[in-house]
Amino acid sequence: MSNRNHHPIIDEARLWRTIEELGSIGMDASGGVTRLSLSSSELQGRAYIKQLMREAGLDVSEDAAGNIIGRLHGERPQEAVVMTGSHIDTVIHAGRFDGALGVLGGIEALRAIKEHGMSHARTLEVVCFTDEEGVRFGVGYLGSRAMAGDWKPEWLSETDAEGITLAEAMKAAGLQPEKVHSAARSGSDIHAYVELHIEQGRVLEHHQLPVGIASALFGHRWLEISLKGQADHAGTTPMPLRHDALSAAAETIMAVERIALEHGGVATVGTLRMVPGAINVIAGEVIFSVDLRHEDASILDAMALKIEQAAFSHKDSRGVSATVRVTDGDEPVTASGMVMEAIEGASGIADVGAMSMVCGAGHDAVAINALTGIGLILIRSREGISHHPAEWSSPEDCAAGAEVLLHTLVALANGQ
Ligand SMILES: [Zn+2]
Repeated sequence: MSNRNHHPIIDEARLWRTIEELGSIGMDASGGVTRLSLSSSELQGRAYIKQLMREAGLDVSEDAAGNIIGRLHGERPQEAVVMTGSHIDTVIHAGRFDGALGVLGGIEALRAIKEHGMSHARTLEVVCFTDEEGVRFGVGYLGSRAMAGDWKPEWLSETDAEGITLAEAMKAAGLQPEKVHSAARSGSDIHAYVELHIEQGRVLEHHQLPVGIASALFGHRWLEISLKGQADHAGTTPMPLRHDALSAAAETIMAVERIALEHGGVATVGTLRMVPGAINVIAGEVIFSVDLRHEDASILDAMALKIEQAAFSHKDSRGVSATVRVTDGDEPVTASGMVMEAIEGASGIADVGAMSMVCGAGHDAVAINALTGIGLILIRSREGISHHPAEWSSPEDCAAGAEVLLHTLVALANGQ
């Protein structure tokens, strides 16, 4: 239901100012933002977030994993809380919106709810999660996985490019790595989780809509395929006598594209290596990666199986054999029906155009899904650009997303 007379509760100018202020922390001369987790620029960003939470009138705390939590107490504080959040760490030379919007939009939403005296039975929490990107220590979702009770002790000895361990970086930031297990929360304490995030893709722009409601997040499978033929002389080996591993790879890669299209998923060959790799030698071996994504685990497995079959199909035709290794994988996440309905209702109240879509990128919501039902409010990204200084979402779209977040939080806080 659309309410054309809706008066926004979010303060668009204030939200935009905080995006600019946080975006200036760790920004280089060319406009790229670098705030690697627990680096000096990120610690400066964390201090800014704590200050902003205090200004918003929230009850601020930090757990042993470094998750910063701002609380707005509800009328029934004994009930499970409604949580929102995201991250402020970035990749190298990134933009200003990835993660930051979810934290700043969450703080603005809670601040506006408080200022307008909006009733919310459950307590609301906004969380700034530690190290979502995983760039510095090679492991992502550190804070959200700690909260979900999914922390692996060996992560503490992972090192960054300078040989500093995660444990050392946490200690330097005033955190207590030996107590990181105390950051774990119980699922029964969290009624629902909803995250506001930029889309980082072109779907919403294509549909000319500001907001997307994620129905699911892609799961993925990573494959490493090695095709072995025979390295022979490019001049003396006639065409019918060849066992060309690259020709077999080319056919396999075309099959990867076709299989993705047929199954409504996405698949990418991102790396390819040829052995020996010389202009006058037939490729003896080709090793390439396949990144497969789909929102349905069984279809994801079917895609992987068909690609495997394609890789093994060159034995008789070309005398090229295959080995296929699964190097990584993650199950898809389905959004909670309750949270999706709350977001749909909120889009109506806020009079914001929204569509249901599958989210192609991973977020802290993936880790929190182990604790409670999750939902994602995506907002339009200009040209789909992300992890780049040109990453951009308009002030109006940021405010529209935060407005939808606000009404979603209130609905969930007052719902069953
Ligand atoms: Zn992000």
